[in-house]
Amino acid sequence: MGHIFKKELTDEQLNELFTNDGKCYEFLAELKWSDGFTCRKCGNNNSCPGKAPHSKRCTKCKTEESASAGTIFHNCKFPVSKAFYIAYNVCKGKEELSTYEFARRLSLRQMTCWNFKTKIRHAMEEMDSLSHGEKLSIQKILTS
Ligand SMILES: [Zn+2]
Repeated sequence: MGHIFKKELTDEQLNELFTNDGKCYEFLAELKWSDGFTCRKCGNNNSCPGKAPHSKRCTKCKTEESASAGTIFHNCKFPVSKAFYIAYNVCKGKEELSTYEFARRLSLRQMTCWNFKTKIRHAMEEMDSLSHGEKLSIQKILTS
């Protein structure tokens, strides 16, 4: 999952991401569609804005795809900006924060933080156990 944060972000950008859900979706959308839009259902390359913020809708089959679909932030039960904070610290943090510390800083339940941290760890482990080719295809799915 580290690739989500592979580009270096300034403290200012990070602070924005950690406090603003809209910025998180914008960030995910930029990553996901950096090479342009391809509908996951019909393969069409044309889209218009969807209903959800920073989502896209296929102009052909009308399927809407959210910016978080296909990422660990999909169906997140708490604000995505807080999920970003945890994900960033797990992937890039210089010190290992306990789930109690995440809970305290983010005003979330410890169990919520534990569940999400576990989800990230699994995603990272899965990446580690894959071959280079498999990793590339997953990165492609997750970031395009
Ligand atoms: Zn389509």
